[in-house]
Amino acid sequence: MSFSSLIALLFPHLAELEVAEVACAGNTLRLRAATRTREADCPACGNSSRHVHSRYTRQLADTPVSGRQTLIHLEVRRFFCDHTECAKRTFAEQIPGLTSPYARTTPLLRQTR
Ligand SMILES: [Zn+2]
Repeated sequence: MSFSSLIALLFPHLAELEVAEVACAGNTLRLRAATRTREADCPACGNSSRHVHSRYTRQLADTPVSGRQTLIHLEVRRFFCDHTECAKRTFAEQIPGLTSPYARTTPLLRQTR
């Protein structure tokens, strides 16, 4: 079984991501992941943008795996909105079903609490 097949089997809610690394330290499982898409939609005007402003890492707590807490280190991008009439200059990409603004946990973990 390939690495990507194993990730898809164990973490189906991360199917939209490119999982680059899985590491275990103590009682914590850490996944390093990034999006696969080249563009994102501005939440204010809906304009699609490929104009990347910057990248940063978000940390999301996910459901435990085999008794270990799981942390996703997700590289996300901030895009420029190039629509001239939009009030937003930049926006952070969101992954549908996984991230929402300022959330530090996955929806799956919030459902289990
Ligand atoms: Zn916009």
